[in-house]
Amino acid sequence: MDGYVPGEQPRDRRYIKLNTNENPYPPSPRVLEALRRAVSDDLRLYPDPTATDLRDKAAEVYGVLPDRIVVGNGSDDLLGMLFRACVDGDDGSVAYAVPTYSLYDTLALIQGAEPKTVPYPADFVLPVDDLVALGARLTIVCSPNSPSGTLAPLSAIDDLARRARGLVVVDEAYVDFAKETALSLLARRPNVVVLRTFSKSFSLAGMRVGLAFASPDVIHQLGKVKDSYNLDRLSLVAARAALDDCAWMQANVAKVQTARTELIAQLRELGFRVLPSDANFVFAESPTHAGEELYRKLREAGILVRYFADADLRAGVRITVGMPDENSALVAALRSFATH
Ligand SMILES: *Cc1c(COP(=O)(O)O)cnc(C)c1O
Repeated sequence: MDGYVPGEQPRDRRYIKLNTNENPYPPSPRVLEALRRAVSDDLRLYPDPTATDLRDKAAEVYGVLPDRIVVGNGSDDLLGMLFRACVDGDDGSVAYAVPTYSLYDTLALIQGAEPKTVPYPADFVLPVDDLVALGARLTIVCSPNSPSGTLAPLSAIDDLARRARGLVVVDEAYVDFAKETALSLLARRPNVVVLRTFSKSFSLAGMRVGLAFASPDVIHQLGKVKDSYNLDRLSLVAARAALDDCAWMQANVAKVQTARTELIAQLRELGFRVLPSDANFVFAESPTHAGEELYRKLREAGILVRYFADADLRAGVRITVGMPDENSALVAALRSFATH
C-alpha cells in the first residue's frame, strides 16, 4: 500500500509557508504561560488517561456533556480510532465523497478495506443520495472539505445522518473559519460524530490535540481502541489553556477571513478560477499553469503551496491564507508569472 504523504515541513525557515494550512498567527500567550508552568517534575508521572480537565472545559465551551467527548492526539488520532473501531475488510465498511482528505484512503487500507467513494460534482455539493445508497458502517464528510474549501450545509449533513445506515463522521478541522457547524445535530442524531482540532484555528498544530463529540455509547466504544495515554501532559495543558482564551482564536480567525476574501478577489482578477472557501485556504486554478508547474515556480520564488497529482485536482493548487504581507508576496509572484 502507499502511505500518507504529509505536506512538506522545510528546515529552511525563510520560505513563505502556505502549504499545510497552519495558522499564521501565534497561539494565545496564555497557552505559553500554562506550558511554562507545566514543565516540572510532574513530567515523570503519566498523564490523565481520560483527559478529565480538558473534557470538562470543552463541555463548557461547546455546550456538550463530558461523557460525549473523547480527546485525540490530533484529530488524525481520532480518525484512526474510528477506523479501528468500525472498518474492516467487509464490503462497504467506509464511504466518502472525493476528492477529500487523502488520509481517509490510507486509514482504510491499513484496516484492509477498499473505501467506497463517490465523486463530488464540480460545485462540490455533497452527493447525499449516493452516499446513503452505499450503506457504509462509517460515512465521512469533511466540511469544510480539503482541498476544495467548500462547506456542506447543515441541512445536507442532517439529511445524510437521518438516512445513513451507520455512523456519519463530520470532520470539522476548518469549521471555525466557516459559517456553521454540525455540533447541534448531536442532540437528535445519535449516529453523528463531530471531529475538531486545535491545529488550525487555535494555532496549535505542533501540540497535536483533537476532540471528538458523539453519543456516550459511541464514545465508550472508541475508548476501547484508544491508546491509554494518547495525549501527553503538555498537550493537555496547552489545549485547556487555549479553550480558556477562545477570544484570541476568534480574533485570529477574523483576520484570516478578511485576508481570504481579499486573496480570492486578487486571484480572480489574475484570471484564476477559485472555489468559494469556508476554510483558511483556497483552491485555485491558474489560467496559464497546471498545478505542479505553478507549485515549482512558486517554490523557486520562496513560496510553498500544495499541489495534488490526482486527475481531478492537478489543474490547481491549494494555498493557505497567510499574513497580509505573505499573501501580497504570493499575488506579486503570480502576477510576475503572468507577464513573463
Ligand atoms: C488538518 C486536518 C486534520 C488533522 O488535524 P490534526 O488535528 O492536526 O491531526 C483532519 N482533517 C482534515 C481535513 C485536516 O485538514
